[in-house]
Amino acid sequence: MKYIDEFRDQGLARRLAETIATEAHPDREYRLMEFCGGHTHAIFRYGVQHLMPPNLRFVHGPGCPVCVLPMARIDQAIAMATQHAVTLCTYGDLMRVPASERKSLLKAKAEGADIRMIYSTQDVLRIARENPHLEVVFFAIGFETTTPPTAVAVKTVRAEGLRNLSFFCNHVLTPPALKTILNTAGPDGVRLDGILGPSHVSTLIGSRPYRFVAEDFHVPVVIAGFEPLDVMQSALMLVRQLNEGRCEVENQYIRAVTETGNLKAQILMEQVFQVRASFEWRGLGFLPDSALALADDYADLDAEQRFPVQVAPAKEVKGCECPAILRGVKTPTDCKLFGKPCSPESPMGSCMVSSEGACAAYWSFGRYRPPAGSASAKSHDHA
Ligand code: SF4
Repeated sequence: MKYIDEFRDQGLARRLAETIATEAHPDREYRLMEFCGGHTHAIFRYGVQHLMPPNLRFVHGPGCPVCVLPMARIDQAIAMATQHAVTLCTYGDLMRVPASERKSLLKAKAEGADIRMIYSTQDVLRIARENPHLEVVFFAIGFETTTPPTAVAVKTVRAEGLRNLSFFCNHVLTPPALKTILNTAGPDGVRLDGILGPSHVSTLIGSRPYRFVAEDFHVPVVIAGFEPLDVMQSALMLVRQLNEGRCEVENQYIRAVTETGNLKAQILMEQVFQVRASFEWRGLGFLPDSALALADDYADLDAEQRFPVQVAPAKEVKGCECPAILRGVKTPTDCKLFGKPCSPESPMGSCMVSSEGACAAYWSFGRYRPPAGSASAKSHDHA
């Protein structure tokens, strides 16, 4: 376990915490947004926030693909499965995300729709090959990281001449979301001093696409790995940039990320996908050039064209603060539904369902649950 243990070493963590506390200027704040849900979970699982000085706060970002998927797209998927009787396949996290009218893919399945949980695109291909009488739709979601497997599946369908598999494409792109958050930062939005940049996404697109953050918004970025020491070292790198008045894109995650990323995967993406003019993100609204659709050469495999559906406008759960949490302007404990009635066992919003969601992170590691006998989770807020 060499490669995991050395990034969770307690002695190193203590020394890093001491260095950050020494170097952070007591007369200023450091508000650092961790873009990825994976960072959020590392921060809560290992108590990283509690190792930081009080004037350094992590602000949770929108980097959870399940969380940012708008309810309307789940409504559409359910309608596809029920109105066209297709076999809808998707990853487990998505099954329990609330849709309009307290529905979900799991409930639709319980009511008779053929909706199946899969672990990889290989499962979808197998289901389609073994069941030529079924119309199979892959409900594809994820940031740039998960686009190559979808692209390979699309190419496999074409190469094998499979006629019964199509793709409901919901892949989204991180830089436009970051730009929107920075565009709205300020008095009415979130105030940010630095960004812990995406790690897995950056293995694919590289660190270069974040230059605009430093150049146009004058906010420093450090591409950060997912282990607790990665997050702490990245926080220290941001503190040093801010103290020295520098504003650069630095790369802490050098064991996986390069400046240019994975060029082979990028070529594959360009061959199979095209950028949508606009796409809705939960919490951020419709963002230009922020998502992918199948390229024209593969338009016949587009499930939205093969199985068109009409759905009523989505109805968000009253009181759910997911949109504000995804913009970084609220935290899960600001939500009146946090813990009761919303918990991972009975989620009312996407941020409590996904293993990368901020609400799930607040709840799952016990740091914001009410102690036995107490009246409210709020008593533990911002300990
Ligand atoms: S606690 Fe539940 S209802 Fe509240 S914001 Fe989080 S997911 Fe939404």
